[in-house]
Amino acid sequence: MLRVKRDFLPYGRQCIDEDDIDAVVEVLRGAMLTTGPAVDLFEARLSEACSAPYTLSCSSGTAALHLAMRALGIGLGSKVIVPSITFVATANVAKLEGATVFFADVDAGSGLMTPATLLEALDRCGGKADLVVPVHYAGQCEDMAEIQHIAQVAGAKVLEDACHALGTTYMIEGETYQIGACAHSDAAAFSFHPVKTIAMGEGGAVTCKDADLSRAMELDRSHGLSRDADEFTNHDAARATDGEAHAWYYEMAQPGFNYRASDIHCALGASQLLKLESFSEARRNLAHEYDHLFSQRNIPIATPSRTEGCDPAWHLYVVRIDFEALGTTRDAVMAALKERGIGTQVHYVPVHSQPYYAARRTHVELPGADAFYAQCLSLPLFPAMDSEDLVHVVDAVADVLTK
Ligand SMILES: *Cc1c(COP(=O)(O)O)cnc(C)c1O
Repeated sequence: MLRVKRDFLPYGRQCIDEDDIDAVVEVLRGAMLTTGPAVDLFEARLSEACSAPYTLSCSSGTAALHLAMRALGIGLGSKVIVPSITFVATANVAKLEGATVFFADVDAGSGLMTPATLLEALDRCGGKADLVVPVHYAGQCEDMAEIQHIAQVAGAKVLEDACHALGTTYMIEGETYQIGACAHSDAAAFSFHPVKTIAMGEGGAVTCKDADLSRAMELDRSHGLSRDADEFTNHDAARATDGEAHAWYYEMAQPGFNYRASDIHCALGASQLLKLESFSEARRNLAHEYDHLFSQRNIPIATPSRTEGCDPAWHLYVVRIDFEALGTTRDAVMAALKERGIGTQVHYVPVHSQPYYAARRTHVELPGADAFYAQCLSLPLFPAMDSEDLVHVVDAVADVLTK
């Protein structure tokens, strides 16, 4: 791994090696910059990494969520439940399809929607919903069998926002499941933005276990255009007098988007996927080491609370700090850490409090989301960090908070 000694530690960053660069250059020297072999290679590798029956690459995590929601039938008047602690895209794609978004509260320790907060949100939408979107915040997940069961009783499908959770596994009754295998959901959406576990520049993917769902998303990804003779409905126009479909013919049954990922992006993604295991292991080790270092010191912070049965490939390391009780502010702490060469971030401003959503709802109290938001701070976490970096961060946090 290229280890550039840097004087500033951002909260997250990509790890690009010479082999990643070579893979991209090879595409640039080749014949196809898009819809070529690198796309197939990336999808095959991601399917294998997640034990996913079907994998579709696309241009971003937002596109992945959008493709999945449309294929799952989300549209005008649909009811979609999304936790408030997430990136805005999770809610926005539902909203842009005409759905009504109901925000679920989160556990104030983990930032995750729980079975209890899901049930409370379901109560607010009359007990029935069309889609539940658990967000695997920071790389952790809740009991997915329980979430799926609650969703099924409410008539809802399940789409995992797995943008943080590539490489995460969870265990239920002695069985280990990979995030992306969709063992307890209809589909899972991933992002490969540079801060995520693997980088494509911009990129995303959807995994699912249903062939028709996969095909619907594949068509939607590229304008809804089909060149598959079995799917043609306009038989006279499609076929020559000998009954064979014209080679040049294509048909569109539903308008779609251009949400394709190029071969340039997929070559980078495919090369990065070869390192998924080492990246995940590094993230797990770093998170454990952070936990250990913080537990040894008398620093007034709470380390991330763990969910049972989940083995996260930690996308973020989010601590909670009672800034008010310490007589300080988050701004002051972030500025002081920045001065010491440490980048931090807030994930996330609760989506239910964004002006757009706040103006469009009847009043809802989400005390867990508000409490989590008030205290959360994401510390640097990326595979190229070493123990020295961690000690530097922990020392700096201790210094800043105990002054
Ligand atoms: C990054 C992210 C997205 C959006 O992914 P993009 O690739 O940036 O479009 C959606 N949801 C969550 C939880 C994310 O972290």
